[in-house]
Amino acid sequence: MAERLNILGVGIDCIDSEEALTQIENFIADGNPHQVVTANAEIIYQASRNEKMRNVINQAQMVTADGSGVVWASKQLGHPLRQRVTGIDLVNSICEQSARKGWKLYILGSAPGVAATAAVNIRQKFPGCNIVGTHHGYFNAKEEKQIVAELLQLQPDVLFVALGAPKQEYWIAEHMAQLQIPVSMGIGGSMDVLSGNVKRAPRWMQKMSLEWLYRLLIQPTRFKRVLALPKFMLAVKKQAKN
Ligand code: UDP
Repeated sequence: MAERLNILGVGIDCIDSEEALTQIENFIADGNPHQVVTANAEIIYQASRNEKMRNVINQAQMVTADGSGVVWASKQLGHPLRQRVTGIDLVNSICEQSARKGWKLYILGSAPGVAATAAVNIRQKFPGCNIVGTHHGYFNAKEEKQIVAELLQLQPDVLFVALGAPKQEYWIAEHMAQLQIPVSMGIGGSMDVLSGNVKRAPRWMQKMSLEWLYRLLIQPTRFKRVLALPKFMLAVKKQAKN
């Protein structure tokens, strides 16, 4: 297990993208169910104030630093992480490996049609990527039973769950024992990006750690959520002092 850095009570693995992918490969080889969380500043701040969310994240087998805010926090706390490991980057590298190794992937979540369109785009980008099924994320209890039955039948190696945080983390934690899928990972809005519905920030903005600003500009309704950032930074400064 990788060393974990405590940020506001949430354990973040000190790993880079390459190590994260190796870990995923090990999880698949091992075959037992594992939960992967990509924790951004907003998620960590929310979890610091929500015990259930914090416990679910802390019991996950892998928790990556999703975003420059988390890397910044690691520096403040004296254990600098080498780089961020974002959800979308991890999704891309898993899809790439699926094309090479035949890993079976299933995408659950996002609005109707989004995951299916994303699957078409992913297969185009990584020919041979083995997406065995998709289902949107607005299901009722009856549909949920059908989804579970389908997953038990298809036995994917990796389940991407796009229900937003912490709903996706709770869903995975509740179902992983039953499903026995080697890797279940919450991916938030990644499928919205991969389907082409939402554009990712231009590379220069990503490099300047301004991805949050870009998302705010194209989706002003995120304003409230972005407010979590300064609160996160203040709380980290406070933790660093203690
Ligand atoms: N979503 C869903 N079912 C729900 C709630 C949300 O499928 O009941 C999807 C929503 O369509 C979107 C994703 O979950 O694709 C959450 O996206 P958001 O941008 O909030 O995620 P973030 O990456 O910011 O956590």
